[in-house]
Amino acid sequence: MKKEELELFQEIAANATHLGEFWDKVLESALIVHGHLCGAMPLGFRAGRLALKALGADREPNMSKIALVETGVAHAAGCFADGVQLATGCTYGKNLIQKLDYGKWAVTIAIKKDGRAVRVRVKNEAVEAMFAGKFMDHRRKGIPPAEVPREFILDGFKKTITRPDEEFLEVSEIFTYTFPPAPKPSFNIGKCEICGERVAENKLRVKDGKTVCLPCSEYMK
Ligand SMILES: [Zn+2]
Ligand SMILES: [Zn+2]
Repeated sequence: MKKEELELFQEIAANATHLGEFWDKVLESALIVHGHLCGAMPLGFRAGRLALKALGADREPNMSKIALVETGVAHAAGCFADGVQLATGCTYGKNLIQKLDYGKWAVTIAIKKDGRAVRVRVKNEAVEAMFAGKFMDHRRKGIPPAEVPREFILDGFKKTITRPDEEFLEVSEIFTYTFPPAPKPSFNIGKCEICGERVAENKLRVKDGKTVCLPCSEYMK
């Protein structure tokens, strides 16, 4: 990352204090982690923030809520998921985010303890404006997001960060989400007898009398 880019990200984030305490810092982190300005990341960021607000919940430090993101793969504006992830703390590494791949700009946040959930969607006009913009024209021509001239995205990005929630987001009533049964996490390690690498204990398998990792077991093929 160039210094000039970092400074731009910091300047954009510094203008987000209206979102509430520390949200400017969260946005700065989101920009640094995501790596470029685009239309969809800030939409996911605002949608994730609003879902937390509707639930009266904080950003997730542990594993007590999940994000079900309706964007997915092989369509434009999948960056929405990064915005959700970084705003809510429902991260990939904590296994708290799933891509439903409906190709829709919406997210459901659900709390494990009581199943309380809310869905926030981006209103049609905001999605249409993103797809009608010059940034998307460049993306259609195959230009990578970070290489689209900044003048075609900067104002749109700032607008998404500063506009009132109700102008472009719709939040559902609170409903109950039923969580599917989850496997118990393992806090122990074992060792594969073929490759010798350390492995989470619950991922070891027995093959020909040996305790082995999944790749060495060939059960994955
Ligand atoms: Zn992006
Ligand atoms: Zn192995």
